[in-house]
Amino acid sequence: LADAMAQDPGIFTDVMVHLVRSGEVTGQLAEVMGELVRSLKWQAELAAQTQRTTVQTALAFGLAVTFVILLSAWLSIHEVSRPINALAAAMRRLANKDYESQIEGVHRRDEVGQMAQAMDYFREKMIEADRLQQEVLRDPLTGIANRRAFDQALERAWHALQASQRPLSLLFMDIDHFKPFNDHYGHGEGDRCLTRIASALHGCTHRPGDLVARYGGEEFVAILPDTDAQGALGVAQACHAATAVQAIPHGHSGVSGWVTLSIGVATMVPRQDSTPQALLQAADAMLYAAKAAGRNTTRATTVAPNAME
Ligand code: GH3
Ligand code: MG
Ligand code: MG
Repeated sequence: LADAMAQDPGIFTDVMVHLVRSGEVTGQLAEVMGELVRSLKWQAELAAQTQRTTVQTALAFGLAVTFVILLSAWLSIHEVSRPINALAAAMRRLANKDYESQIEGVHRRDEVGQMAQAMDYFREKMIEADRLQQEVLRDPLTGIANRRAFDQALERAWHALQASQRPLSLLFMDIDHFKPFNDHYGHGEGDRCLTRIASALHGCTHRPGDLVARYGGEEFVAILPDTDAQGALGVAQACHAATAVQAIPHGHSGVSGWVTLSIGVATMVPRQDSTPQALLQAADAMLYAAKAAGRNTTRATTVAPNAME
């Protein structure tokens, strides 16, 4: 009855009427009321319990969804984005000719690992190509830049200074009476002399764009970008002095008791109507003039661009 009344409170009225009519109001009413209250309490507890369970289930579901989302975010950052960003950074480093930094991820066994391994292979090839390129540009005897490096550097400097309209100077240097040196001291001694002179001349230039190269035989050249005639003459004097400091005996020179140099210097602002060869020819002509003037000296010229054709 209590359950029925809990379901439908209207029954309560019917029960009351019945009890009043039957004269058993007091005792039974109290009993029925007690049952009713217990039933209502039980139902309220059941409802609360059901509500608690629903809230807990919703909470657990929410937590599970959040966990899955966080896990996929972590996986996507850790397994995909971060390695791909690392590979992109490595690729940028390779493009900037930084071949020394290691590639991350070469030990992974997935696609990222395969990409990293391919990139690492490329890096090793570039180190090898770089080394070969350095070798191709170096004179094997003296270790300084060779004729090929000189040609490239002259072309580069020429175009850069043509754009900025700044002067370019060139030194053409030749060891005096080197044939008799070889004839009397032998080729081995001749080679040692060339190596010492080369490194002495190499030490005479200091700017990043400067280049000293062995042009061939006992001839050396120096490219001095953004250097006027006066500056170039200063470098030429430094080259004479550095050669003298080596104090390599030369008993068959006729100029001095030691190995000496003759230097031709040419300076010009590169223009559209002239070429690097014009500057080289001018420096060569000045070298010839220095030789004719008795050797162990420098002759210099500033070339007017319209005089080249
Ligand atoms: P000048 O003062 O007019 O320059 O006379 P020179 O004897 O220096 O010039 P010449 O051109 O007559 O001779 C250059 C000599 O340089 C010829 C050769 O004996 C020597 N020579 C050229 N290349 C090398 C080299 O790689 N090693 C050695 N040991 N000697 C070389
Ligand atoms: Mg010569
Ligand atoms: Mg010579």
